Amino acid sequence: MKLLLIRLCFATALFTVGIVPVALASDTAVILMYHRFGESHLPTTNTTVAQLEDHIAALQDGGYTVVPLADVVSALNGEHNLPPRAIAITVDDAYRSFLTTGWPRFKAAGFPVTLFVATEGVDAGYSDTLTWNEILTLQRDGVVIGAHSHNHSHFPSLSAATVAQDLAEMSAAFERALGDVPDVFAYPYGEAGRADMTAVRNAGFVAGFGQHSGAVGPLADRFYLPRFALNEQFGRLERFRLIIETLPLPVVSISPVDPVLQSNPPAITIELTDSLPNLENVTCFGPSGEQLNVVAGTNTVSVNPTSSFPAGRARLNCTLRSVDRLTQGRWYWYGWQMIAEFESEGIAVHPRYR
Ligand SMILES: [Zn+2]
Repeated sequence: MKLLLIRLCFATALFTVGIVPVALASDTAVILMYHRFGESHLPTTNTTVAQLEDHIAALQDGGYTVVPLADVVSALNGEHNLPPRAIAITVDDAYRSFLTTGWPRFKAAGFPVTLFVATEGVDAGYSDTLTWNEILTLQRDGVVIGAHSHNHSHFPSLSAATVAQDLAEMSAAFERALGDVPDVFAYPYGEAGRADMTAVRNAGFVAGFGQHSGAVGPLADRFYLPRFALNEQFGRLERFRLIIETLPLPVVSISPVDPVLQSNPPAITIELTDSLPNLENVTCFGPSGEQLNVVAGTNTVSVNPTSSFPAGRARLNCTLRSVDRLTQGRWYWYGWQMIAEFESEGIAVHPRYR
């Protein structure tokens, strides 16, 4: 880690002494999330090989820099700048197709990847899930391992004690299998309430990742960071080119602050640090893709859904095209995932995503 920091400081120094203009240094990034590769019988979590190769080619061609996820986190903490158009790649659930199909292509492109692993499925030896030996091999090959719970349960449906127990069992499993516990965490299904975020922070993790869309910047909540989910539907090249260009809206707070909703539909208020010249053009979409009623103030956006969100994950997406001279035409994208209702503790949840 120390070596990495020295290397990063050196890279940042290059930015500041003029080899690359200072204005190009950035504090924003886009984080991508994949699950399966070349498994077209499961299109909702799969990316086809052709799509993956298109994505890699797009990232190689367009002035992007794929950086380790840890660099995004430390940049958000103000420790250094990121290169312009920084992208981080994450993969959830440790399916075997990452080893056979995804990683060889990312590795050939020189792209770092973080693999978020739910430990119980690996311990159980599911046929489509990597073994600990395979995960260890990937780690030695440069893949960074992240944590993704033990049981892959819906955290907001669990008591605080059960969440704490799951995190403890997960950490013990990582310690046993890899000799170390990861320092970044991805919530199963991207679902987290404030209590779950606190539990993950208290367990020693430095960042928590959701599955809501959006770019990240210095104002982003370190324990509820957005990632753009890619699958066969959302991995089309045209959309991919759009999301890797997105910018974070300068959102300083959202109300209600807890993603686990106490009232449904919620009255949502997003507060920005600054007014954007065309904020009145912001458009927000609800969980079914429906356009929501929005009122833009000087530096606030009020979103007023007129009907209840369906039970479970409820994603909000707000977008605005930039009219800034340096970023003109790119989209600001702010996403947030709420839990409209959740299952009660005791319902058996299969430890694999979908
Ligand atoms: Zn998962």
